[in-house]
Amino acid sequence: MLDLSPEDEVVIRRFIQDIRDLQQFRVPPIMDKLPFFQSMWRGIKMMRYLKFLFIIMRQTRISNFQLAKKFKSPFLREVFENIFDNDEVKMLVFNFPMASFDQKSAGYPIGGSLKWAERITEKFESLGGVVHYNTPVKRIITENNVVKALEVRNNVIHDCDIVLSSADWYRTVFEFLEGKYVDEKIIALKEKKSFEVYFSILLVTFGLKRDYKEYPHFNRFPIEKELHSPCGKTWDRLETHFYHYDPTLAPEGKTVMACSFYTKNGQFWIDLRKNDRKKYREVKNQFISDLTEILELKYPGIKDDIEMVDFATPATVYRYTNNWQGSAQGWLPGDNVIASTPVKFKLPGLQNFFYASHWSRPGGGIPVAINMARDVSKIICKEHKMPFHTKQH
Ligand SMILES: Cc1cc2nc3c(=O)[nH]c(=O)nc-3n(C[C@H](O)[C@H](O)[C@H](O)COP(=O)(O)OP(=O)(O)OC[C@H]3O[C@@H](n4cnc5c(N)ncnc54)[C@H](O)[C@@H]3O)c2cc1C
Repeated sequence: MLDLSPEDEVVIRRFIQDIRDLQQFRVPPIMDKLPFFQSMWRGIKMMRYLKFLFIIMRQTRISNFQLAKKFKSPFLREVFENIFDNDEVKMLVFNFPMASFDQKSAGYPIGGSLKWAERITEKFESLGGVVHYNTPVKRIITENNVVKALEVRNNVIHDCDIVLSSADWYRTVFEFLEGKYVDEKIIALKEKKSFEVYFSILLVTFGLKRDYKEYPHFNRFPIEKELHSPCGKTWDRLETHFYHYDPTLAPEGKTVMACSFYTKNGQFWIDLRKNDRKKYREVKNQFISDLTEILELKYPGIKDDIEMVDFATPATVYRYTNNWQGSAQGWLPGDNVIASTPVKFKLPGLQNFFYASHWSRPGGGIPVAINMARDVSKIICKEHKMPFHTKQH
């Protein structure tokens, strides 16, 4: 950045310093129960986190649009305006992942998300857990406000001591439990009065018969002709992600490239697929065709290199995960990025039931899902008077 615009040195160094500031802290702070003296010592160390709170509050006050205005270089101004697809978002949302990438504590798992999920399943099964695939839950059965059983498909009933749902929040509360265990805050969430649902994603993936290694793996660029989606969104920029650094995704000499697009109208795709499958397929094909024409202008010859296309719409996200309105990450963070968790680990008036997922903290994503899983496990252990271990003894 300094090479591109030395006259912006002060703003650039401040921007980098904000990311460095975040790197001084372990986030989230892990709070296992420790013996007295150790926990006293930790309490003292935790005082440092007051500084962290101050840093966070400062970074939540500035958005990418506000930061962009501080640059003299028109190019850097444009870059910062566009880091969130031309949406205004607090810089903290950008700075956190940057801090983690630089510390090598975040990244891309070779083999993609499947390989990553398989490692968790292997661990779970090695500890005695059993996974029932293709067994969707239909209902959580309660008796006198105590969870008693799960009803899965084909009306099979499994008795249970406790239920921990990590499925979609809306489906869990309003379908599995028929909306019987709610309060004003939960109703406000359902009516989207307190938080907005996160964007859904249109993900078009191409299998290419060349590896395109001469191009950077990730590129975002302006396009001459706008790309329209039938859900009402229009894009004047495109991002291409060549996975040529992951040899497991395509045979040697070939690669996979994905274009993703964010929309707040995931429900359009879900409804269209449900109500008019033929039209759904037609608009998908039209979108792919428009996109391919645009790609050809940027990467001449790419049209002939396409061997396969996969288009996952918000209806696909919904079909595979049941996430409400095809949300990719639960709730969108509001102005207060550190607002308290809107979805609690328990529901009012219901016993032997727990809930944790990316809906549990605005912003969602894998880190939130894992953090919430850990926290709810601690609560379950405590209630059952069991020690909470994260390592095998
Ligand atoms: C295209 C895309 C890219 C993303 N990229 C990133 C990224 O780079 N980094 C990041 O941090 N996050 C990313 N996310 C978000 C991330 O995938 C989610 O936030 C995360 O997977 C949420 O985890 P979860 O366990 O809470 O919910 P989910 O992953 O949605 O899991 C819910 C599970 O419940 C199951 N389920 C639903 N209904 C039922 C039922 N009736 N019975 C039984 N099971 C049921 C589903 O099958 C699913 O397995 C991305 C999301 C998308 C769509």
